[in-house]
Amino acid sequence: MNCLGPDVAAAMRPRSPVSVPAEARNGARAKRGDAVRRSPEHVQISTAAAITLGLAPGRMHRCSCTRCLNLLLTYPEGCRANCAYCGLARHREAERDYADRNFIRVDWPALPVEQIVETVVAQGPATPFERMCISMITHPRSDADTLSVLKAWTDRIAPDLVPVSILSNPTTMTRADVAALRNGGAEIFTVALDACTPAIFERTRGRGVGSPHRWTKYWAIFEDARDIFGPEKIGMHLIVGMGESERECLDVVQAVKDRGGHSHMFCFFPEQGSLMDHLPATPRGQWRRVQLARYLIDYMGVRVAQMRFDEAGRVRDFGLPRAELDAIVAAGIAFRTSGCPGKSRADVSACDRPYGDSPPSDIASYPFPPTQRDRARIRRQLATVLP
Ligand code: SF4
Repeated sequence: MNCLGPDVAAAMRPRSPVSVPAEARNGARAKRGDAVRRSPEHVQISTAAAITLGLAPGRMHRCSCTRCLNLLLTYPEGCRANCAYCGLARHREAERDYADRNFIRVDWPALPVEQIVETVVAQGPATPFERMCISMITHPRSDADTLSVLKAWTDRIAPDLVPVSILSNPTTMTRADVAALRNGGAEIFTVALDACTPAIFERTRGRGVGSPHRWTKYWAIFEDARDIFGPEKIGMHLIVGMGESERECLDVVQAVKDRGGHSHMFCFFPEQGSLMDHLPATPRGQWRRVQLARYLIDYMGVRVAQMRFDEAGRVRDFGLPRAELDAIVAAGIAFRTSGCPGKSRADVSACDRPYGDSPPSDIASYPFPPTQRDRARIRRQLATVLP
C-alpha cells in the first residue's frame, strides 16, 4: 500500500494554483528583458543534451552522454497550460520566468536552433545522437514553430542519420497538423497523455487546475497519428503514481499497444515548484511492477488479461512462467528509460532522460544498462510479487 493510505487517488490531490499578479502575467517580466529568446529561432535543450553537444560544461553521473537530443519550444510567455505536476506550468509566472524554470528535474538552457543544427552537422556520422525530439508546449504558435524547427533540421540532417520524433501538444492541433509533421519528415509521433484515467487527467491537467487540456482530444489526436504515422511509429507518455491503480495504468498500456503504439513511462516525482511538489514520489515496488508489466505487454506479447491483480489493482501475477520472468528481470532492459527507439534495438529507448524522474541515489528509470548491483536492488523492489 502507498504510504498515503488506502485512498491514494484522493490523497494525490494537487494544490490550487495561486493567482498571478497582473505585472507578471503572460511573460510580461521576461518580455521587458533585453534578450528575449523565442521559437522558432531558439529552443531550450536538456542539460544532458547541452553537455553532449559540448555547449555546456559538466558530466552526468554514471552516463557518458545522452543519445536523444531533446528540443523544447520556448517563449517568454511560456506554456499556457497549468498541469499540476509540471515545472513549466503557467501558475509559475507568479514566481519565475519561463526560461528559468526546471522541467523533469533539470534546467533547460535556451540556444539558437541554427547553432544546434550546425553542431550536429559538423559531427556528421560520428554524432552520438540516435534521435532528435521536438517537444511542443501549449502556445498559439507551437504548431507552426514545430514545423519550422523540423524544417531547419531536415534541410541539413538526413532522417536516417538522426530520425525525428515529435512530442505533441494535442490541445492546439488538428489532424492536418499531424499530417504536416509527417510530411515534414518526422518519423515518430507521441502524445503525452500523462494521466492514466479521465478523472486524474481532469484533476491534474484539465478543469481542476484551470488548464485547457481534455482527455478526449488527446485520444482523438492519438488516433489521427495512428492513421498517419502507422504502427510502431506512435507512442503515449504516461506518468505512474498520480493516484491510479496499477491495473488502470496497464489497461491504458494495453489500449496503446492494441493501436500499434508503445507506452513511454515516467515515475511520478514531485517537481519542485509544481502544484504536486508536496506529494510523495511513487513507491518503488509499484513502479517496478508497472515497469515490468509494461515491458511484457509492449515487447513480449503478454496481454493484461493474462495478468492477475489484487483487490487494490496491484499486479500479483505477470502471466508468464517464473523462469521466463526471471530471465527478463535479469536482462534489465525492462527497467531502463522508456521512449522512442535508438539504433541498437527496438526495446531500448534513445531517449534516456538521465535522472528525469528520480534522484541518482534512487534511480527509477535507468539511463544505462543496470549493473549487477542495480539489478539486485530491482529484485528487492519486486520482492512482494517475485519472492
Ligand atoms: S502542457 Fe506540457 S509543458 Fe505545458 S504545463 Fe502541461 S505538461 Fe507542462
